[in-house]
Amino acid sequence: MKQAGRNDGRTQKGRMEMRRGGEISRGNTDEKTRRSPKGKTPEGRTSTGRTPIGSFPTGRTQGLSYGSAGKERFPDGKKTGSGAAGSKSCGAHESRGAYGSRGLHGARTARLMASSPCPVSGKCGGCQYLHLSYEQQLEKKKRMLREALGEYRVLSGIIWMEHPYHYRNKVHAAFDHDRKGNPISGVYQEGTHEVVPVESCLIEDEKADAIIGSIRSLLPSFKIKTYDEDTGYGLLRHVMVRRGFVSGEIMVVLVTASPILPSKNHFVKALLKLHPEITTIIQNVNDRATSMVLGERETVLYGKGYIEDTLCGLTFRISSKSFYQVNPVQTQKLYQKAIEYAGLTGEEVVVDAYCGIGTIGLAAAGNAAQVIGVELNADAVKDAVVNARRNGIRNARFYQGDAGEFLRRMADAKERADVIFLDPPRTGSTKEFIEAAASVGAKKIVYISCNPQTQARDLKVFERMGYGVKKGMGVDMFPWTEHVETVVLMSRVKD
Ligand code: SAH
Repeated sequence: MKQAGRNDGRTQKGRMEMRRGGEISRGNTDEKTRRSPKGKTPEGRTSTGRTPIGSFPTGRTQGLSYGSAGKERFPDGKKTGSGAAGSKSCGAHESRGAYGSRGLHGARTARLMASSPCPVSGKCGGCQYLHLSYEQQLEKKKRMLREALGEYRVLSGIIWMEHPYHYRNKVHAAFDHDRKGNPISGVYQEGTHEVVPVESCLIEDEKADAIIGSIRSLLPSFKIKTYDEDTGYGLLRHVMVRRGFVSGEIMVVLVTASPILPSKNHFVKALLKLHPEITTIIQNVNDRATSMVLGERETVLYGKGYIEDTLCGLTFRISSKSFYQVNPVQTQKLYQKAIEYAGLTGEEVVVDAYCGIGTIGLAAAGNAAQVIGVELNADAVKDAVVNARRNGIRNARFYQGDAGEFLRRMADAKERADVIFLDPPRTGSTKEFIEAAASVGAKKIVYISCNPQTQARDLKVFERMGYGVKKGMGVDMFPWTEHVETVVLMSRVKD
């Protein structure tokens, strides 16, 4: 086990993910471009990418999500979809008993009919539910939720999004050129490596889309060629934009095939002139023939090289390769619910497994004796360590490594944990992790998932290890897509 702060800097070359419509495989270090769900690994999915239910994957693959219905408000009755993220704490006291769940038929504001809202819907494939109203989407997700987890009979609906548009705070565009050589940017057409031009998107941050458009328009005058996958000629492969929902800070990552970016200072200047709101610009070099978006090497061209954002009343540093939930409005509700489920009293040793940049653990730290975070991605762990310090949190430590292995070593060392939050990638957790969770004596497990199928599989193992499912809820983090997040509380019923 390595404590992150003293890490030797060994980078974890892992998988990560990326997609427009719903963060698919919450993964590791860099991102995969979206291609065909059936063909060449869209956002990291392979044609056989679904994990068979009931079996544990040897590697980490992907799957699918679900939901149900209800309406959520902040404790003060303020609507949650209105940009309030960050203004509220995720502390257990504030969220306990805070949500009133109204039936879907009461969801008046959600009656948003999708009358051909997207010009590239047939080609992009990111939003599977464009033909449905938001109410219908929630109904469908509710059904999926029932199918995957209905046997537990404790699931109490879905926390839906008040304004389910332009929620993605991270936008990625693949760059290419048309037959005349003009730069284009957008998404890969399903099943191909053809870039479908996208000007704007129903679910992406509008500012991010505008910046990507500006970059495209600047390229010819700076003689920056887009990269051609077939010939290997050209430079610009992708652009990723991340925007802090509360802070407004904006990171632009230019992914290039080689480190040489002609007249980069002038280019940066020109971009900043068009978008003075950009706070940092990074050049990421990806010279591999790969569907991953980001390469290993990075140079900061402008600003501090990361952005900060506020979530649950805390400030988080987010670097380009770290996982950060893409829908901050809903993330805050998700964390609130997770922390409420944990029912912390301030006495507990809490493990935040698959912790990313430490968001859940740090949000819970105020109500815990100690927080121990574990995460595979070294960059994310570094962010988590900085985030603890940045927020003056002294009772949290973060380690880099595989969560299952880490917990097993904790168990071997006879260390104890009272509450475990786990938020694994779409492949779910592992038997090793679940068995170790029981061995460290966890009384409560709060399982956050973006894939109800692998979650259902894992819940069965938890049950065999003496845990019972007590409560659960869906959170619609990805409107217009088939994906939904869930949070489930289990507690120890027998030793
Ligand atoms: N809880 C965080 C991150 C969830 S995404 C949040 O809400 O932001 C899942 C995280 O699990 C990613 O950061 C990914 O890098 C990490 N991860 C993937 N496989 C892992 C493993 N085997 N052990 C530990 N972390 C892993």
